Amino acid sequence: MADRGTLVKTAMVSGGSRGIGKAIAVELLKSGFEVFICARSVNDLEGTRSEISRFGKVQCFQLDISDNDKVSAFVGDWKNTLNVLVNNAGICRTERLDENENVWEEVLNTNLNGAYYLTKGLVRWIPIGGSIINISSQLGVEGREGFGAYCATKHALLGLTRCWAKELGKKKITVNAVCPGWVKTEMALSDVKKMAGQNSLSEDDMYKSITNDLDLKRFVEPEEVASLVGFLASDKARGITGQNYFIK
Ligand code: NAP
Repeated sequence: MADRGTLVKTAMVSGGSRGIGKAIAVELLKSGFEVFICARSVNDLEGTRSEISRFGKVQCFQLDISDNDKVSAFVGDWKNTLNVLVNNAGICRTERLDENENVWEEVLNTNLNGAYYLTKGLVRWIPIGGSIINISSQLGVEGREGFGAYCATKHALLGLTRCWAKELGKKKITVNAVCPGWVKTEMALSDVKKMAGQNSLSEDDMYKSITNDLDLKRFVEPEEVASLVGFLASDKARGITGQNYFIK
């Protein structure tokens, strides 16, 4: 781990091993941050480290953020100043009220409790002028059939963003949220696949049907979400807190 007191700024990205989190890690590395990423799959972490370490110093941690004991042990060992914390790790599982998929606890424990555990444990290491960015979703302000657990967590992240902004403002720590619509990652593409099956469409036709309703007629790229996060993590955004930004 980096020594405390180093002039290099540091950032932690949960779920940085793929998708949006990996793009955020690259964006922050390119901006000169030393970046820490965590996820559950060691293989993915190792693959990502070798892929992105050409952009700067990246350190990987195997961590299941939904497990409070593991997060407590992880943050108990933490000894670094942390300028930026990006709560990005998340899962999407669906269950209508009349189904019994038992996804409620898994989704809440990951998307909501995980972000809370990590932030509560690491916040004391965030110095004056640091920032926290929570990755919520368009489903943080809208509903979708079958997405009750996911929507509940993404709505809740916006509530936490507003509360933490008020709590941490006196330390000049900013707290903001990003609400992506459809972003081209494994998570979204597996939703497309599932919806294609439910609607008896090919994946291509399902993609066209979804994008037809989008203003830009396409999914957002992970790198586009990452540039918004990069801006919120930068000194240019020092005057912005308690806000949520849509990218769709
Ligand atoms: P993704 O490709 O599935 O990546 C999710 C990342 O989170 C992976 O690195 C995954 O690694 C990690 N993760 C999942 N559960 C974890 C746990 N318990 N502990 C630690 N890490 C965990 O998803 P994505 O599309 O990039 O989504 C990233 C964030 O954006 C999520 O919060 C998601 O809700 C949000 N979002 C995505 C979209 C979209 O269209 N893609 C839209 C709106 C919001 P492991 O599986 O190895 O743990």
